[in-house]
Amino acid sequence: MIVQETRLDLPLPDPPEPLEDCGVCQALVKQRKQARAAGDWSRVTNCNVEIRNHHRARWWR
Ligand SMILES: [Zn+2]
Repeated sequence: MIVQETRLDLPLPDPPEPLEDCGVCQALVKQRKQARAAGDWSRVTNCNVEIRNHHRARWWR
């Protein structure tokens, strides 16, 4: 039985992958880190949504 390693500090099932060459991603990752450090989960979620959204075209097509 394969048990996937899960991180309890990540409430989202699919945290988006930031691209290393994308400035927007880098900024959002930084914001997300700060939000997480502050325990502000709604902001963490917002950052995740934004990371995903501004790449929607790339991800889904
Ligand atoms: Zn990006």
